[in-house]
Amino acid sequence: MAASVTHPQASVAALAFLPLTRPTIDEETIAGVVQVLRSGWITSGPQVKEFEAKLSAYFGGRPVRAFNSGTCTMEIALRILGIGPGDEVITTPLTWVATSNVILEVGARPVFVDIDPQTRNIDLNKIEAAITSKTRAIIPVDLAGLPVDRDRLYEIANRRKIRVIEDAAQSFGSSFKGKKIGSFGDFVSFSFHPNKNITSIEGGCLVFNTEAEAKLAEQYRLQGVIRTGNDGMDVERVGGKFNLTDVAARVGIGQLPKIDEFNVKRAELVKYYFELFSQQEAKKLGLGLPLANFTDTNWHMFQVMLPGTHMSIKRSDVMGKLTEVGIGSGVHYPVIHLFSLYRSLGWKEGDFPVAENAGRNLLTLPLFPSMTRADVERVVKALVAIVSAHI
Ligand SMILES: *Cc1c(COP(=O)(O)O)cnc(C)c1O
Repeated sequence: MAASVTHPQASVAALAFLPLTRPTIDEETIAGVVQVLRSGWITSGPQVKEFEAKLSAYFGGRPVRAFNSGTCTMEIALRILGIGPGDEVITTPLTWVATSNVILEVGARPVFVDIDPQTRNIDLNKIEAAITSKTRAIIPVDLAGLPVDRDRLYEIANRRKIRVIEDAAQSFGSSFKGKKIGSFGDFVSFSFHPNKNITSIEGGCLVFNTEAEAKLAEQYRLQGVIRTGNDGMDVERVGGKFNLTDVAARVGIGQLPKIDEFNVKRAELVKYYFELFSQQEAKKLGLGLPLANFTDTNWHMFQVMLPGTHMSIKRSDVMGKLTEVGIGSGVHYPVIHLFSLYRSLGWKEGDFPVAENAGRNLLTLPLFPSMTRADVERVVKALVAIVSAHI
């Protein structure tokens, strides 16, 4: 390594490592965090209250509560609905494993439905066939930020009297038919993990229809505790430890006003990805691009489909070669039903072929607001060179 640094040609060619993603946190937010640290109150307190109020305003006044992850918000929504052993919950196999782990966590059974190859989201044409007398909820996922068709989703859910927990972890700032995701619908869950479009380091929020459900969520958030008066405390149900800290909330408060700016920047970079990939005739190489949606999605991720068996190297080698030239990439996601835990519960290869194909061949490319057009050029050039040498 040291040798390559001193090599004159290497130093000219050496570009900083381009990560898959990185958060953009401004100085005002950093100063705000320092203030919180010095304030004497660092766990859940006034910053969390302010963050929740600002999130609620963002979602048109709906009740919102903040938590220490996106995952726990979905678990809490399931608990509020009383979903447990003997119940089924429909979801997609192509998502972060949290989406279905929470279903197992409450003792219910996930029922996977294959994806639509265009949107890469749950195939709405196949949902009804998966509904049984045990189906209590659907957890759709807006993969890469592209919203599931909410009209069709709620038409089915309402007609079959099934609740919806939207896993909108990736779609903060996305919209459907001009309405912000989170501003309508049933439960809507967001994550503020550092890879998401806005962050609170770790964290998440849940949007509710009623203040009563939000109050219940407060109990599940902290040991089931209900406080009254100056000294009253009671516990009626088992709760967890899911509260957000004020330090984290202050990061979120600094991020929230930036969401539109961040998402505009992402969309510009994605437009450039599309432009360069079409100039490079990506289609001839067998590279599949995502739906070119510039009205609804927040472009949480830019994922290309590799040519699979038409290519003489594996995805893992493509990623290795990208790393060699200083470019990060990622896999979102290996399909859930083929993890050991899920296989042991009865799922097997071939159960959801469209998702399995996507799980094997999707590659996530770098995309984040502080990336430049030159970075996009570098990624496209490198990927096209790697793929065309092995086709
Ligand atoms: C990030 C993510 C989650 C979980 O969020 P955490 O905040 O990490 O718990 C759930 N579902 C999807 C689709 C995600 O991308």
